[in-house]
Amino acid sequence: MPISPQYYKKPAIIWLNVSVFLITFLVAAIGVPLYAYFQGFSSTTIIMAIVSLSFCELSITAGYHRLWSHKAYKANPVVRFVYAIGGAFAVQNSALHWCSDHRIHHQHVDDNDRDPYSAKRGFWYSHIGWMLREHQAHRYHDYKNVSDMQKDKVVMWQHNHYLTLTLLTNFGIPILFGLFIGELWGSILLVGFLRLVVSHHLTFFINSLAHMWGSQPYSDKNTAKDSVVMAVLTFGEGYHNFHHAFQYDYRNAIKWWQYDPTKWLIQILSFTGLANGLKRISEEKIAKAIATQELNKTKTKLTQLSLANKEAIIENLQEEYEQLVIKLNAYYSAKKACLESKKDQLIQNVEKSKLKQHYNELKLSWTTQQQVWKNLVHQYA
Ligand SMILES: [Zn+2]
Ligand SMILES: [Zn+2]
Repeated sequence: MPISPQYYKKPAIIWLNVSVFLITFLVAAIGVPLYAYFQGFSSTTIIMAIVSLSFCELSITAGYHRLWSHKAYKANPVVRFVYAIGGAFAVQNSALHWCSDHRIHHQHVDDNDRDPYSAKRGFWYSHIGWMLREHQAHRYHDYKNVSDMQKDKVVMWQHNHYLTLTLLTNFGIPILFGLFIGELWGSILLVGFLRLVVSHHLTFFINSLAHMWGSQPYSDKNTAKDSVVMAVLTFGEGYHNFHHAFQYDYRNAIKWWQYDPTKWLIQILSFTGLANGLKRISEEKIAKAIATQELNKTKTKLTQLSLANKEAIIENLQEEYEQLVIKLNAYYSAKKACLESKKDQLIQNVEKSKLKQHYNELKLSWTTQQQVWKNLVHQYA
């Protein structure tokens, strides 16, 4: 017999987490405006707070998330060390623990019992509530799903000294900076408290709002959404629909004009030789995912409309989609053959120009079909 919800016992409160979140929030919310009104913050302290916030956020997004959780690229030990310090400064648990949670999130996304911060349990739970009670205490020290990370000396060093590093960075950086510029309390409030609270909530938005607001251009198999507002707030992580569809890509934004500073940082590190092995999902797979998602969305819309010839329209849509996929596959294999022939010295120039011509024909056929497809889909958008 199913147990009535009223008999469920709420898990125990984690007082340490509650106290950290509450005290830092209250000090930031009350202390910062009072100090700003009576004393005023110097521009140097404000800049330091922004730099510290960016350091925390990028350590989480580029380090904890894209490097360690998803292995989307490889980084030099110095870079990994900097991320480990930034992660402790961000007070988001050790990289080992954070990534273990995050891999479970991807594996069981939206499963209210297994996803540690399932968005289906609502905003509060996925944002912060999941950390306030012993919701998944049974697996707190089970690090089987991050055994690869346990081979990384930087990860294990940070994990074993997490508390010391957290205290050193969170007290040390604001106090030393404050003493250095002669604005101790201003620095403690802004670089210490406000930076931490803002950094916490910006990261938490990825688990809450990035699963609630926005569009789903790549997949609707889970609640993850793409949103430019979220991307701006989360250093590029707001293209979360793409990320859940292609979690091993080092990018969350794939278009050049989309805001993804985490991706830009990884690219800079790669140019300077501090990162390598950047993983990218092929254009072909992305284009196929977009087309399939458009097909599914349009079919759903059509079934809701009262049209006399609905079946025939759906049939036509399906046929055009199949044509699109055939032309897409042909175009990308011709592109691959063309690129490979350029590298091969043994292939004659005549053969190369034939391949190029074939590639151009298939490109035209694919772009024409894309136009046909777009017009068809937009009719019912
Ligand atoms: Zn997610
Ligand atoms: Zn992820």
